[in-house]
Amino acid sequence: MVRYKFDVGVDDTRKEAFRAAAADWRTHTCIAVVEDDNAEYPYILVGIYAEGSCWAYLGRPSTFHKINLGWCKTMSHKGSMVHELGHGLGVNHEQKRADGSQQYHGKGPHLEMFWQNTESWGSQYTPAVNTYIGSAHDGGDDPQIGYAPYDFESIMHYFRQRNADHTINDGWYFNTIPSSAQSLVGQRNALSAGDIKQALVTLSTSAWVSIAFTTPFAAVPVVVVTPTETGTTDPASIRLKDITTTGFSAIVAKPPNKAVGNSAMTVTFLAAAPGVRQLGGLWMEAGTISTQKLAYSTKCLGSGLPAISWEKISFAHQFPAPPAFLSSIQTVNNENGLPSNSQPWLTVSLNSVKVNEAWVALDRAETTRYGQAAY
Ligand SMILES: [Zn+2]
Repeated sequence: MVRYKFDVGVDDTRKEAFRAAAADWRTHTCIAVVEDDNAEYPYILVGIYAEGSCWAYLGRPSTFHKINLGWCKTMSHKGSMVHELGHGLGVNHEQKRADGSQQYHGKGPHLEMFWQNTESWGSQYTPAVNTYIGSAHDGGDDPQIGYAPYDFESIMHYFRQRNADHTINDGWYFNTIPSSAQSLVGQRNALSAGDIKQALVTLSTSAWVSIAFTTPFAAVPVVVVTPTETGTTDPASIRLKDITTTGFSAIVAKPPNKAVGNSAMTVTFLAAAPGVRQLGGLWMEAGTISTQKLAYSTKCLGSGLPAISWEKISFAHQFPAPPAFLSSIQTVNNENGLPSNSQPWLTVSLNSVKVNEAWVALDRAETTRYGQAAY
């Protein structure tokens, strides 16, 4: 989720157009761009900071980033607002792709530049290798594997500008390669198919971090990860997915209504093959169970909720004393919203640990407030 709020002095016409631009991102990508007057960091601050221009800071904010709606002032500029919001989400200009104005790994160039004509705008055409050109296979239903075609129709592509001095190439900054694409560049009507695909790849899945094990396991291991501080007082958890013999993916998850982002943390993980083994004289047992048992604080158990119940785990090993017990949810089966807020928010609750058994449940109470179970 990305939150924005309007600065003082933004008129209703601009607000209406900007809200429509945000709705375009929400409708066509899975990124929730949401207006929130009370947003805490990070957020995008939308204001009028220079009448003669329309711009945005590039990149997701860690505190706040500004979008300037200078000449972007009516619904007819909605597409330009979609473009600026793209910058606020971290999307660079399409023509700054590494294969835009020069060849890169056998691709491109897609623009023939006439640098003498580009006036002060030249830097907007110099290749930036961190500009998206595709993605490795990130697992699951990855919407983009490999090279993404250069997108002349991207809403993030500049239009074909022209210098007043027509000595060189009639003053045009660039010709497209092929020239048939000349009529395509600079559209500000809607997110292109390529824009939407890029957003799905870079803005949603990049929040997941892939971790590779030093040595592959013979069987899928049990992985336990605990969060550290997030720099805020918000609760946070680490959710795991795609656990395989060679690695797993992890993401910092936050409860509903808490700002996502600004949550970088260094975490340690433990991965252990299922079963019982002895480590330097200490016994260790690792395993997974599937459960739908739910726990709440009894004080917060509202009406109409399922009864509290616990899942019994019987150890294969009989420990000489109740062991230390570590747990992590191994899937994201309950999740719909990641990498925005976790929904519902779940942790693992432990009822009792004995030498030969333990009782656990999925805990819904950690974000409970005001006597209501967070259901
Ligand atoms: Zn731009």
